[in-house]
Amino acid sequence: MTLPTDPAGNLAALIRCPSVTPIEGGALSTLETMLKPLGFSVERPVFSEDGTPDIENLYARRSGNGPHLMFAGHTDVVPVGDEASWTHPPFAAEIAKGEMFGRGAVDMKGGIACFIAAVARHLGSKGGLKGSVSLLITGDEEGPAINGTTKLLEWAAAKGEKWDASIVGEPTNPDTLGDMIKIGRRGSLSGSIIVNGRQGHAAYPQLADNPVRGLMTLVDALLHPVFDSGTKDFQPTNLEVTSIDVGNPATNVIPAKATATFNIRFNDTWTAETIQAEIHNRLDKAAKRKKYRAGKTTLVDYELVWRDRPSHVFLTRDDRLIEALSGSVKAVIGRKPALSTSGGTSDARFIKDYCPVVEFGLVGKTMHMVDERVALADLETLTQIYQRFIEDWFERGIP
Ligand SMILES: [Zn+2]
Repeated sequence: MTLPTDPAGNLAALIRCPSVTPIEGGALSTLETMLKPLGFSVERPVFSEDGTPDIENLYARRSGNGPHLMFAGHTDVVPVGDEASWTHPPFAAEIAKGEMFGRGAVDMKGGIACFIAAVARHLGSKGGLKGSVSLLITGDEEGPAINGTTKLLEWAAAKGEKWDASIVGEPTNPDTLGDMIKIGRRGSLSGSIIVNGRQGHAAYPQLADNPVRGLMTLVDALLHPVFDSGTKDFQPTNLEVTSIDVGNPATNVIPAKATATFNIRFNDTWTAETIQAEIHNRLDKAAKRKKYRAGKTTLVDYELVWRDRPSHVFLTRDDRLIEALSGSVKAVIGRKPALSTSGGTSDARFIKDYCPVVEFGLVGKTMHMVDERVALADLETLTQIYQRFIEDWFERGIP
């Protein structure tokens, strides 16, 4: 039996599994086939919840004496979009000019393929690990993320699993491999403001109360002043108004109701609770302003509805873990990566409740696009970085 030491071979096998969320597509079976000969025990729990599709997940562990390193990722992929626009079919893993094409090539079957190759090479070169390695792989990262990483972590922890550190293999590099390690993420929160007015004739505004005027005042208060100017580790907190809805087809009618929806990405100046309180406070103050509502005696009549669960901000402070990873990047490609907290949320936000977590994978440029692809040279380089990281992290032992 050939061991999975070749990341391109591993990735081709994974790309050929059409695992568009929520379908397993053979991807987890393929992983199982790679991991068992390396001495991993493999479990594939299925999680369900009303109103969401059942999801199959995978947890594999190779036990040894020493600390426990967890690699986390997902085998599900986003839909291919217009298949006819692809230069090479999205599930064929065809190679052209040194690049492998396929959905999931960088997000993130490629990261998994490289990590498995790194483990296989490490076992071959050292004859054994100085501890335990596990892979926590979900099939529900690109979907609702309900039956995925959160439940898999709870399930494993309930069986007594404990981890000393985790690396997530999402594509963290904006342009070239080695650009960027993620050591934290901003928090995210969304809400809607609904302003109730009084409907009426546009020619008789004194008889009506235009909710658009009130909504403008409230939205203005969310956008100015800025929430903060950033911290040592984070960009400034930013709020985007993502939608303003009135749904009024008539030009001569003042509507009865207007709604705005916003999303805020906040740094470690705030918690989800304090940023919510700040927003309530700004809206309450603004509701009293007369800027657009001269002559009205009432406050802006509004409700604020928070949407979904907030994502909490986090910053990993495990220097040993961060140095092992950034040192491995430097050793392989000759330059130090930026330590960043930019971008959207990831499953690291769930893992951080169990152990310190960092993120490093391929170059993200083509993720979710038509012609998603990865340079074969990058697969080899990432495998070398992961292998070096595994060696170095176990070498450092538990502090
Ligand atoms: Zn991803």
